[in-house]
Parts: sequence; structure tokens; C-alpha cells
Amino acid sequence: MNTPTSSAPNPRDSQGPAAAAPGAPATHTPASGALPRIAVLATGGTIAGSAASVTNTSGYRAGVVGVERLLEAVPALSGVAQIQAEQIASVDSKDMSLALWTTLAQRINELMASDEIDGVVITHGTDTLEETAYLLHLTVKGSKPVVLTAAMRPASALSADGPLNLLNAVTVAASEAAHGQGVLVAFNNRIHSARDVVKTSTYAVDAFQSPEVGALGWVQDGRVEFQRKVLRPHTLDTEFVIGAQWPAVEIAVSYAGVSRVSVDALVAAGVRGIVVAGTGNGSIHASVQQALADAVTQGVAVVRSSRVGSGHVMRNGAAPDDTLGFVSAGSLNPYKARVLLMLALAAGASGNVALQKIFDTY
Ligand code: ASP
Repeated sequence: MNTPTSSAPNPRDSQGPAAAAPGAPATHTPASGALPRIAVLATGGTIAGSAASVTNTSGYRAGVVGVERLLEAVPALSGVAQIQAEQIASVDSKDMSLALWTTLAQRINELMASDEIDGVVITHGTDTLEETAYLLHLTVKGSKPVVLTAAMRPASALSADGPLNLLNAVTVAASEAAHGQGVLVAFNNRIHSARDVVKTSTYAVDAFQSPEVGALGWVQDGRVEFQRKVLRPHTLDTEFVIGAQWPAVEIAVSYAGVSRVSVDALVAAGVRGIVVAGTGNGSIHASVQQALADAVTQGVAVVRSSRVGSGHVMRNGAAPDDTLGFVSAGSLNPYKARVLLMLALAAGASGNVALQKIFDTY
């Protein structure tokens, strides 16, 4: 199933990455009969998980099935694309690391620049998929499709969802319509933007949603359809690049009876930024709010987000951002807000005015 990359001239060769900026009409037309060349980068996850019995969908080891076996389970792939497989890692995505993010993003950027590849699919665990997807959305430099997929049931399970999700992800990555759409997530027949998608179920196969805005489109039986476009800048249109350095940014949570101990410990540990997962519209318990205000005076960037799961945090809504020097995360959840804050600090942004502009943009 791992078809070697063809050495035939690629009909898309004349299209450099800058030729199809987000929003531009699709201009990549494969020669008739030539299947698009798709790199499948495997990182582990439940899609590569294995359990002792077919009925076990919770007690299994993630990331133990190699990419070749994942591909062999989907013979229909040979009718969709020429596949080049790479095992980048074999991790449970709960253990995703900043070092692996760097490796993955750098490899994708190499593939973006390569004349040998037309699109990229990444198999990933569901637990931190939304974070990896948003990181790549902001740092991949190219307009070729990049599509993440995953599974809620291990490869060994009855009615495993991984094979169809993989086929659909490759189908999306091979489609003209996916060019310039930023990083996408294909899951359970839906196509989501990396910016919007979040995991919303611990067990259901329909585990990913894009709260407030909905999916970008759908994929079914080989057909790919987009129903809307991402408006905020991504990929080629961001100022962010992947480097070896990651500024220390952590997440604090506000809840009934919380003390300022966590925030004070983070500041003492030398973090550059704190994202607070506030209640409701990013409101923060008075004790934590005071600790965060003190953190700002020590040069720590503070971003207010919400633990609610949908909606947005209004600037100067539930906390006086202007007077305390906070930044509002808008519609980014705490985990995605942390990704953006790390990239913004790494890019040299500082101060709540500059950071707010970045959060309002991306
Ligand atoms: N713990 C697994 C992971 O994120 C869960 C999954 O993939 O569904 O790798």
C-alpha cells in the first residue's frame, strides 16, 4: 500500500507555495490519470492503538501500530493518492512535547517546499490534536493541503473509526478544494478548520466539533465539499515560524474557592506567560485576578480565556483588561490561546497592546 512516490513530472510543479494564497481560487490541476502524491506522517494515537480484545475501546495502548499497517487496512487509498509514509513518532498524544511539535512542523515545511509531494496527512491522537493542528495552522509555510486525522477507537476494535477517517483525510488532502484553506482536521466525515476545532467527547466517534462556527465542510464517498472559508490569516500569511525555542507559557484555572498559589508558583518558576481559563466570559476569582495583576507587573503576559467550551471572551468584559494589563483570548480556548501566546512571544511581541492585536488577528 505504501506506493513509492512517482518520478513522473508533477502537474502542480509550476505552482510555488506563494502562488495560491489563502482565499485564492484553486489553480492546481492534476494531469488526467495522475493521482496526487500525499505524504502520510504518523505520530501515534488511538488510530494506531491496540487492545487485547475487539470490545476494548478504553484500556488499550495508543501509538503501537506502525503506519504501514494503518495504510494496509485501507486498500481503497490506492485509488485516491500515491502515498509516501513516514513514522515521525509513536506517542499517545497526551504526551505530545514541544520538541515533537518542532520536528513535525519542520518536516511539514520541508514537504511544503518539495516538488515531490502535493499534500500532507498527519495521523495523531485525539487528546491534543486541536493544539497541534492550530500550531501547524500558524506555522506551516505553504498552501498545499495539510490534514490531521485520528480515531476514537483503537485499530483493533470492532467498528474501528480510524480506517475511514484516514481514507477521508487522504481524500481531502488530495482534493483541489483543500488548497489554501489552512490546516484542516478530517474526522467523522466532517472537515474542520484547525483554528475552530475542539474535542468535545471522551468516547463518541463524533468527538470533534467547531463550536459557534461549525465545520468548514464534509467528505463522503470520495466527494469533498467546502461550505465556508476561514477568514483569519494562517500558514503563509502569519508572522510565525517554528524555532527551537519555546517561551514557557502555562495555563491556570479559575474556580470556586481557588487560591493564588498556582499563579504565584508559575511566576516564581519564571514563566513568560500565563493563560487563565476563567469562568464564564473569562471572569476570574478575585484572589487569582490579583495574583495575575501582580504577575503583569513582573513582566509576565496574561491572557484571559474561558473554560466554558464555546463562545468568546470580550475585552474589558468580565475583567478590566486595560487597567490590569491583560489580553483577551477572544474565541480561542485556553489550549489554543497558549499556542498563540507561545508563538507571539517567540516572535518578539511584548506588552498587552501588541499581544491583543495578535489575538484579534489570528
Ligand atoms: N490518548 C489518545 C491520544 O491522544 C487518545 C486518542 O487518540 O483518541 O493519543
